[in-house]
Amino acid sequence: MRFVKGAQVVANRHFLHFADCAEIATRKHFKREPWLTAGVNGSHSGNSLHYVFKAWDLRVWKDGEDSSKGRFSCKACENFAADLRVILGVLYDVVVHYDKTGAYVTHIHTEYDPR
Ligand SMILES: [Zn+2]
Repeated sequence: MRFVKGAQVVANRHFLHFADCAEIATRKHFKREPWLTAGVNGSHSGNSLHYVFKAWDLRVWKDGEDSSKGRFSCKACENFAADLRVILGVLYDVVVHYDKTGAYVTHIHTEYDPR
C-alpha cells in the first residue's frame, strides 16, 4: 500500500485487515498497488469513523501518482468495491463516492463498522 503525502493511519488490527484486503482487490482489479489518501487525516463529517482510526479512503486514479492519466470508470470502481466488500467481510462497509453530478468516482471509502 502506498500513502499519498500527508496520509496518516493508526496501524490497529482494523487497518491491518483493510490493508491486506485492499492489496488483494486493488492488484486484481486495477493492476497496481492501493493508494491511501486518508486515514485520520483530511476533512470528514463530524461523526466520521476516520477520526477514530476505523476508516480509510482509496484513490481511483489509474496512476496513483498522476491524475492526468485519468481515473477508473464508475463500473470498474463498483466492481472493485463489490469484490472488496466480499474480501473484507461483514464487519466492514465499502462506499463508492461520486462527484456532485454523479459523473465520476472521487474515492472509495472503507470503514470498520460492526453492526
Ligand atoms: Zn472516507
